[in-house]
Amino acid sequence: MTHLDTDILIVGAGGAGMYAALAAVRNGAERVLLVDKSLVGRGGATVMAQMTVAAALAAESPDDPELHLADTLAAGRGLCDETLAAALCEDAPARIREMAEWRVGWACRDDGRIAQVIAPGHSRPRCCYVDFLNTGPAVAATLRRQVGRIATIRRVSNLAVTDLVTADGEAAGAVALDLAAGEPVTIAAKATVIAAGGLTRIYRRSSASANMGGDGYALALAAGAELVDMEFVQFFPIGHLAPRLVGMDPIMWDPFRYKLGGRLLNGAGNEFLAAYGSDEAGAYTTPRDLATYAITKEVEAGRGSPHGGVYLSFEHVPRAALDAAFGPVILRLARHGIDLARAPVEVSPIAHYHMGGVRIDERMASRVPGLFAAGEAAGGANGANRLSGNAIPEALVFGERAGRFAAIHAGRRSAAAWPQGAGAEAVAQIRRLADGRDGVASPAARLDELRGLMQAEVGPFRHAAGLERALTRLRAMRAELPDLAIVAGRACNPSLADWFELRAGLIAAEAVTAAALARRESRGAHQREDFPETDRAWGRGRVVRMARDGTISAGLER
Ligand SMILES: Cc1cc2nc3c(=O)[nH]c(=O)nc-3n(C[C@H](O)[C@H](O)[C@H](O)COP(=O)(O)OP(=O)(O)OC[C@H]3O[C@@H](n4cnc5c(N)ncnc54)[C@H](O)[C@@H]3O)c2cc1C
Repeated sequence: MTHLDTDILIVGAGGAGMYAALAAVRNGAERVLLVDKSLVGRGGATVMAQMTVAAALAAESPDDPELHLADTLAAGRGLCDETLAAALCEDAPARIREMAEWRVGWACRDDGRIAQVIAPGHSRPRCCYVDFLNTGPAVAATLRRQVGRIATIRRVSNLAVTDLVTADGEAAGAVALDLAAGEPVTIAAKATVIAAGGLTRIYRRSSASANMGGDGYALALAAGAELVDMEFVQFFPIGHLAPRLVGMDPIMWDPFRYKLGGRLLNGAGNEFLAAYGSDEAGAYTTPRDLATYAITKEVEAGRGSPHGGVYLSFEHVPRAALDAAFGPVILRLARHGIDLARAPVEVSPIAHYHMGGVRIDERMASRVPGLFAAGEAAGGANGANRLSGNAIPEALVFGERAGRFAAIHAGRRSAAAWPQGAGAEAVAQIRRLADGRDGVASPAARLDELRGLMQAEVGPFRHAAGLERALTRLRAMRAELPDLAIVAGRACNPSLADWFELRAGLIAAEAVTAAALARRESRGAHQREDFPETDRAWGRGRVVRMARDGTISAGLER
């Protein structure tokens, strides 16, 4: 069996993981192992991100991190961990400038300064970008290039970490599944960084890639770390719904709205956002939670579009302006029979980002010594609602911090401790599953059920009865894991990978659902129909833990 030994193990190679690898080396780590269940630098959300990256560069108008922080806290509806939010806003300009030195290609103004645009919830133009639909790919490519230049960063693709290993209460490494070979791999590490991204893939309608199923949260919980703010799943209000679009990003309408405004209309063709408290007039300023609420309520009231969303219309924008702003995309849309100058499209909310995650301090350290978390896997900075454009800087800033402090931690340890027999049960489990067995259902079928259940009962609007139904079913599905059918075979066996994805997804889903049931108020992305008001008594983040027997409990105050 393959056994690897490293100073720093980084689980997940998106923006946070790759930045963590660079920072770890810069801070003295001699050996870094960067693993990803997809291809390094090409899986997860970073490479999919569309457009805006917020940082108080003051390139367009006076700005400073304090103002960025004020906007972040306001968007977070009183629930941000202020220390983490401040770290995000203070470090973001340095990370953006460093990316510029690495030639990411931020769009620039005529005077050579980085161009910045306004985005919903920001009090001034603060969001930089590379090009339409190209910011995430450019960020990922730049980090891949930097990482690729450093020989002491070992990169391993197609390696899914299934279990973290602790020794004497400290992080000691991990057990992973080599997805191509179907074989277990053990990894001893002096420090581990979880940078495995978010969980939106556990919803039926999501903007996620295939590998955003909540693995990082499940790994952290099982290793003894705490999660915070798990109930806050951000739904992107204007995800594409109809007509059918193939090979295009479901959140592509965001940049259209930044540039051209666009009108949201209900099924009767009337604008409706103002009725829900939005003051947007022509420009795109309504925060995501409010827009999600307004659209869902219009549909519920029978005023939706034919496919169950609302209309997004650019019919009032002259064709020449559409072509000038989005020429090549307009041509691609035409191939799908969409002519924005003549007809609206239908949009509706989709799960897009997760505010919650591993509970960390400003060093990105969890309560398990040697275990750090960064990026979307980390919770707290964004409170109950993320400001648009804050997620990429969060990945870069928290990644840098996690790598730096993991390197400092590793520097204090003489050798990675891998006790005799460590991870043996996790290794045995991979082998048992790969032998195959008959069962009550396939993991793929249960993954499908999980996504439907979360969409129906734990979406943007929740109530006790639905959450309890979901919790009961999630627990039953977790108990049933040993009885699921696995196709025999090691090499490239999808049912083996599905089983581990399902196990992690069920744990993450239970954490979200239990936290949502515990929070008996409405705030930001968490709206309870049975508790519609925001209640000051709930103005603290809630913590989720897992007991030794696997029981998940939520609602303990931070
Ligand atoms: C379509 C889309 C558009 C977006 N647009 C924007 C935007 O314009 N601006 C903005 O600020 N934010 C945006 N976001 C959000 C932002 O992209 C993410 O929050 C951020 O990139 C997360 O970075 P990360 O490194 O934490 O995670 P990711 O980039 O998701 O990387 C996580 C990595 O971990 C790997 N992984 C997962 N589980 C395991 C495991 N068990 N073992 C090994 N590897 C594992 C995954 O394969 C993946 O490569 C967008 C998100 C999406 C989905």
